[in-house]
Amino acid sequence: MIRTVLIYGDAVLKQPAAEMSKDFAGLPELIQDMFDTMLHHKGIGLAAPQIGENHQLFIVAPSKQIDPFFQQNDRWPGRVFINPVILDQGGLFKSMPEGCLSIPGLEVSVKRPTHIRMQYLDHLFQPHEESFSGVLARVIQHEYDHLQGILMTDRINGFRQRSVQGHLRRLEKTETHHSK
Ligand code: ZN
Repeated sequence: MIRTVLIYGDAVLKQPAAEMSKDFAGLPELIQDMFDTMLHHKGIGLAAPQIGENHQLFIVAPSKQIDPFFQQNDRWPGRVFINPVILDQGGLFKSMPEGCLSIPGLEVSVKRPTHIRMQYLDHLFQPHEESFSGVLARVIQHEYDHLQGILMTDRINGFRQRSVQGHLRRLEKTETHHSK
């Protein structure tokens, strides 16, 4: 089911997400909703708080060229990360343009490390520790930030911040805020 994506200004987007427990009811349905919603909006990643579910869960589905391990499971066209923890960040810091389904109409360049090492649970609550680099590392860090209540616009410098304020104020006035 396609769910409503919360837009900038919604309080949930600024809150840290809660850790998920193994007995969480309706997890497969929630993950399915997230894939339906992400694919509907042609996104390449989505965090649960973006649809008002404030849990430590995000999905990522970049292209197969970017992630050779794309097909983590037979069920969904992408990967599922639960209760993730970034253990290490490294490599270079690189600036690249990013977009966000919760901040429509805005693209900003965000500086992020090119390599990360992360510990997470998959959709079956199996633990993994894995390294990511390139675009996949970037998408994962963007979604991971959502679980901490951090948005891409929090990661840009003061000068650029001021230039996007007008756009953000307009989004705050939109009517898709459900959790205020
Ligand atoms: Zn986002």
